[in-house]
Amino acid sequence: MNVMYKSTRGQAEAVPASQAILKGLAEDGGLYVPERIPALEVTPGQLKGMSYQETAYEVMRLFLTDFTEEELKGCISRAYDEKFDTREIVPLKEADGAWYLELFHGATIAFKDMALSILPHLLTTSAKKNNVKNEIVILTATSGDTGKAALAGFADVPGTRIIVFYPKDGVSPIQEKQMVTQKGKNTYVAGIRGNFDDAQSGVKKMFGDKALAEELDRAGFQFSSANSINIGRLVPQVVYYVYAFARLYEKGVLKDGEAMNVVVPTGNFGNILAAYYAKQMGVPIGKLICASNDNKVLYDFFQTGEYNRNRPFILTSSPSMDILVSSNLERLIYKIAGEDAEADRKMMQALASDGRYEITEEMRARLADFAGGYASEEEVAEEIRSLYEKTGYVLDTHTAVASCVYRKYRREQEDGRVTVIASTASPYKFTRSVMKAIDEKYDGMPDFDLVDELSRISGTPVPRAIEEIRTAPVLHDAVVEKDGMKEFVKKVLAAPGSDV
Ligand SMILES: *Cc1c(COP(=O)(O)O)cnc(C)c1O
Repeated sequence: MNVMYKSTRGQAEAVPASQAILKGLAEDGGLYVPERIPALEVTPGQLKGMSYQETAYEVMRLFLTDFTEEELKGCISRAYDEKFDTREIVPLKEADGAWYLELFHGATIAFKDMALSILPHLLTTSAKKNNVKNEIVILTATSGDTGKAALAGFADVPGTRIIVFYPKDGVSPIQEKQMVTQKGKNTYVAGIRGNFDDAQSGVKKMFGDKALAEELDRAGFQFSSANSINIGRLVPQVVYYVYAFARLYEKGVLKDGEAMNVVVPTGNFGNILAAYYAKQMGVPIGKLICASNDNKVLYDFFQTGEYNRNRPFILTSSPSMDILVSSNLERLIYKIAGEDAEADRKMMQALASDGRYEITEEMRARLADFAGGYASEEEVAEEIRSLYEKTGYVLDTHTAVASCVYRKYRREQEDGRVTVIASTASPYKFTRSVMKAIDEKYDGMPDFDLVDELSRISGTPVPRAIEEIRTAPVLHDAVVEKDGMKEFVKKVLAAPGSDV
């Protein structure tokens, strides 16, 4: 059956998947949502024997209904290949009773690779299907991981350019090094003097700028988004929850009819929303546990029904979760408002003007699938240290937030269900914080010495992504003010094919 995509704000027409992927954001400023969530058409028994790629096809074909089998299979096989360092693509590791779903075996060792290795192919396929002649310009704001994963995904993909903005002082040294060393004639990177929310709102403003769009069109360009609001990122993320379930069912960890809980370290709410979609497709998932760091806007939201971004922005050791406005939450808000676009619009307007909104009691009642938790910086460090000491398994800081929230949830709720924890980054990506958590003595050691030390104490090889940047030259050194982003974009596009 055909699935169309409509806007959460209700003032843009419904479009097929390929157009929703091309547009990113709907014209009325809303997010595209599928008109209905399709049900899985394979049984748990059938899922058991399937590879990651086969599972991906079974899930994605139900959402991207205007893609042909050949197109979709082509996208999947080009995305999930040797760029991943394991044939399983997303291994599931047990440690101290929980199942860690390692989503970090792709090109940039963070979970963003799961979606961003396929998005460029979905996008160029969509462009072809819709006779788009313009060159596609990917504009992205990143809190660290999206940027590099998008750069890696789009580098030298014909018919595309990619421009990435990141908060100059808000990403880890390794994250920054990964971005500024990116190769590819069509890649551009700029640090901004501001935080992630500044970068994100600057990008959103450019997407909404009609005059800029016309100027671009005349020059043969059009914007598209690689941010997690694009359904071309959301849909591929549903896949690994289905896959995780299949592996646990195959192992006999989950019996017939038994559900698993899922804990997701959350920032922009994309990853956990994908788990929610998986549940609606029929995957047996119990609670969706949303884990926050000290920027616990979402935790407070689940506690009180009020979303309030008016609070200090805290820089933590889990920078990819340092977010006060979780864009993808709008899709959930729309859903629990009974798909009432006007109600959604009012709340999003209130968020834009007052920085807060409140949901109704009726809406709160529809949040029963979710639980919220958070972990402080001390708790995160303690979680890394104690799990390492107990099992030898080393978590990154983001996964440690989720792992800590999982433990708290279990203590408080007496819910003993099998639990999958989304492991969103390799510890090698946040080596400094991770090693310091394990032992204070590592404080002050140079970055790459820490990498070697982590390899030694964990008995795991240094990932290729880290080896590569040890000696790579810096190719991007632009830094712009937060109101200078548009200027930078114009400069990039005025200099076709050359470096800025
Ligand atoms: C992006 C990211 C997150 C947050 O994911 P969302 O989908 O934005 O909620 C968590 N951990 C890491 C390592 C990330 O890169």
